[in-house]
Amino acid sequence: MRGFEYLRPATLPEAGKALASNAEARLLAGGMTLVPAMKMRLTSPSAIVDLGAVAELRGIRLTGSEVVVGAMTPHADVAASADVKRAIPALAALAGGIGDPQVRNRGTIGGSIANNDPAADYPAAVLALGATVVTSKRKIAADKFFTGMFETALEPGEIIQQVSFPVPLMAAYEKFRSPASRYALVGVFVAKTASGARVAVTGAAPAVFRATDIERLLSEKFAPGILEGLRFPAAGLNADMHGDAEFRANLVGVLARRAVASLLAAGKT
Ligand SMILES: Cc1cc2nc3c(=O)[nH]c(=O)nc-3n(C[C@H](O)[C@H](O)[C@H](O)COP(=O)(O)OP(=O)(O)OC[C@H]3O[C@@H](n4cnc5c(N)ncnc54)[C@H](O)[C@@H]3O)c2cc1C
Repeated sequence: MRGFEYLRPATLPEAGKALASNAEARLLAGGMTLVPAMKMRLTSPSAIVDLGAVAELRGIRLTGSEVVVGAMTPHADVAASADVKRAIPALAALAGGIGDPQVRNRGTIGGSIANNDPAADYPAAVLALGATVVTSKRKIAADKFFTGMFETALEPGEIIQQVSFPVPLMAAYEKFRSPASRYALVGVFVAKTASGARVAVTGAAPAVFRATDIERLLSEKFAPGILEGLRFPAAGLNADMHGDAEFRANLVGVLARRAVASLLAAGKT
């Protein structure tokens, strides 16, 4: 790891100023991705702006129709939140299934979606639930936020403040995890909303995406049977030592059916 300047602002405006003062500065949240990348010299920022002391970025609020999660809220807090469990239990379960206890206690939702790892769990929830990412500059709809592998719509100097999740009628997340890292080999988040079904897939492709064919079928009839004949196309899906594209394509259908079946079994329709 190369040397760097370490800054620890206490407020959001101070953090913005610190970031703006150095074009090479990087934000530090839980450090679960950034620190190993620095240790391997994949990135060598000359300054680090640690958001750990910015209290306003941490916490969970339940408004009438939204769950609002501060960017610095660790996965463990989302998993344990009574409000999240009540309003969007699938989101709490997703957070509780990320990595291991150390990762869940350090890693944050802001760091996760800013990083946009192709196999990360939160991007699937953000996209399927049609969440809004609120930054220091603007509000970004989920459909516009994830732009490619490790790429987002964030501009230099932009800080994620919170993510607002509209409460769906019901939702479920199913992931087929890598036994080593617990990242998703494939993860499918299914949400039933007043305006139809939204389905987002992580792990299968270079970046999270919406499975619009599955959405159309589930919007017709929200039942696993409607997906029986579905052959999800393997073209463009990831292939690696963990599984080829056909395996991942099959998993998309299997996990989508499981997600819907789990909601029906729980009597949530
Ligand atoms: C062993 C291991 C297993 C894991 N397993 C999983 C898993 O199963 N599922 C999963 O989804 N994830 C998994 N992760 C990822 C982890 O959960 C973190 O979410 C992820 O590493 C990034 O979050 P962080 O808070 O540590 O961010 P950091 O590493 O601190 O930052 C990551 C990037 O986001 C930027 N950033 C951070 N906060 C903000 C902000 N507020 N605004 C703008 N940019 C920001 C940083 O500058 C940096 O570029 C795993 C990680 C490890 C190390």
